[in-house]
Amino acid sequence: MSSALAILKDVFGYHAFRGQQAEIIDHVAGGGDSLVLMPTGGGKSLCYQVPALLRQRAGQGTGIVVSPLIALMQDQVAALSEAGVRAAVLNSTLTSSEASAVERDLLAGRLEVLYVAPERLMTPRFLDLLERTRVGLFAIDEAHCVSQWGHDFRPEYIQLSVLHERFPQVPRIALTATADALTRQEIAERLALQDARVFLSSFDRPNIRYRIVEKDNARQQLLAFIKAEHANADGTHDSGIIYCLSRKKVEETAAWLGAQGLKALPYHAGMDAQLRAQYQARFRVEEGIVMVATIAFGMGIDKPDVRFVAHLDLPKSMEGYYQETGRAGRDGLPANAWMAYGLGDVVQQKRMIDESEADDAHKRVSSSKLDALLGLCETAGCRRVRILAYFDEQSEPCGNCDTCLEPPATWDGTREAQMALSCVYRVAQASRVHFGATHLVDVLRGNASEKIRQWGHDKVSTFGIGADRSVAEWHAIFRQLIAHGLLMIDHGGHGALLLGESARQVLRGETTITLRRQASKPARGGERSASRGSRTDHTAGMDEDALANWEALRKWRTATAREHGVPAYVIFHDATLAEIARSAPATLDELAEVPGIGAAKLERYGEEILETLEGV
Ligand code: ADP
Ligand code: ZN
Repeated sequence: MSSALAILKDVFGYHAFRGQQAEIIDHVAGGGDSLVLMPTGGGKSLCYQVPALLRQRAGQGTGIVVSPLIALMQDQVAALSEAGVRAAVLNSTLTSSEASAVERDLLAGRLEVLYVAPERLMTPRFLDLLERTRVGLFAIDEAHCVSQWGHDFRPEYIQLSVLHERFPQVPRIALTATADALTRQEIAERLALQDARVFLSSFDRPNIRYRIVEKDNARQQLLAFIKAEHANADGTHDSGIIYCLSRKKVEETAAWLGAQGLKALPYHAGMDAQLRAQYQARFRVEEGIVMVATIAFGMGIDKPDVRFVAHLDLPKSMEGYYQETGRAGRDGLPANAWMAYGLGDVVQQKRMIDESEADDAHKRVSSSKLDALLGLCETAGCRRVRILAYFDEQSEPCGNCDTCLEPPATWDGTREAQMALSCVYRVAQASRVHFGATHLVDVLRGNASEKIRQWGHDKVSTFGIGADRSVAEWHAIFRQLIAHGLLMIDHGGHGALLLGESARQVLRGETTITLRRQASKPARGGERSASRGSRTDHTAGMDEDALANWEALRKWRTATAREHGVPAYVIFHDATLAEIARSAPATLDELAEVPGIGAAKLERYGEEILETLEGV
């Protein structure tokens, strides 16, 4: 009988399980139910693929995998087939004769793993078919889709509890990367998994480097960042996703990046569906495409080699930020999460909350979620500690975020905080209206603009008291006062500022305020950090020979992927290819030692790889 480890080596070409994989696989293969919570890129697929193979090989039946994402299913099946697994998919993309063929294979017990769309699975006809089949296990991927409160709700998912009623003896494994306790509870209830063993992994993504820069000229900052960290010597660049809030900004940014020589494509819900699908397919299959998108782009993007995720606008919440940045580096190789953020972002998000149709309770929740994210942006401590703490996970400073790598200087900003807060107070007192940061900074700096003279704000006592600081410095101060809750943005939009509850203590001199020093030249933010040599490149440290191998192998992979009509990473991941380039194996046995090369791939591609290496 084959063991889990033998399958891992033979089929997938890996040498060891990661994290809780071994334990989970053991439990599932032994017939237990489980609920697996693991971050994106944590290695969830193997948790059901290996048990499916184990059980099928022990004569216990085919593993049925439910997944809501058509592109993802197809990639998984392509990758499994490449690895020599008898896998198939049943979804709306098949013709009826193709579907019948798959069903015949299933009935005859010829399949090891079958991916099925939930709406297909739940048809009475298919359930009857399953009754006549040996089913080894049910895997329910993206299980948070049962949550009605989440953004990925799928009504068909609710009905999946039927599986337990109709096939009580078949073990079920539900998997998700959505960690919060509420969703977890909902999954367990709705899928009748209350008695399942729960496997909760750390949600840390150690290979992702978090960086948040002050917005100055965001586009230029972004371009500098991409050029410094994600451009290749041959003029290509890494795959990445850039998130913007509005469709208009998506279009403009994609066009602008295109004009700068990047392969950038736009993606948002307002685009023609066919074009959108085409761009998504290109992003998946071609190398080096940068997708500029609204959050409409995301679900179902499990491309493993996305090397960076950039935010040109502030997301709504920590959940959103973490989910979006989580699409970087699923393959475990170094990746960047980069965001440019400014006072305008805060005002914009607050306005969107205020202007939304939601009731007050909902608006309060939205506001506090936004505040948590602001706290992240303005923290002088480790970003990762802050993020994980939000998800109830304790951790130590990570050494792989901007604040760990370049600890920001802090300074005693008590006096400036008092100036700013009393300016808010005086101006409001003088005019009985509240004003936004731009106006307040003009008052502080003694800029007697027409608006200021009209309102008589050149007569208030705080006029000109902050003339020794620049506009940018004052903006940074205001931003931090908002993040600290000392200032609040008025409901009703326009970004007018009000004193927060604890402002009084600062004004009375009862507390001191420590502020983060602004980077000396925010416009150079991207380049500065780039000079630290933090490129997330798999070719890092390769000598000339290895680099030549790498280029040749990439060419071979591109051609092979095109021939098979699959994304390059389905043939081999970058990490595998880089390891081959480095170790330059001369024989099939040596090649077999490289992680990521299983028996089927060795047989299929071994000779070609050796030839490619010889030809360098
Ligand atoms: P998830 O579904 O949790 O986002 P995946 O199952 O797609 O993650 O796995 C992420 C990546 O990690 C994949 O490229 C996969 O091949 C790789 N991987 C998973 N488990 C292992 C392992 N034990 N050893 C090496 N690589 C692994
Ligand atoms: Zn850190």
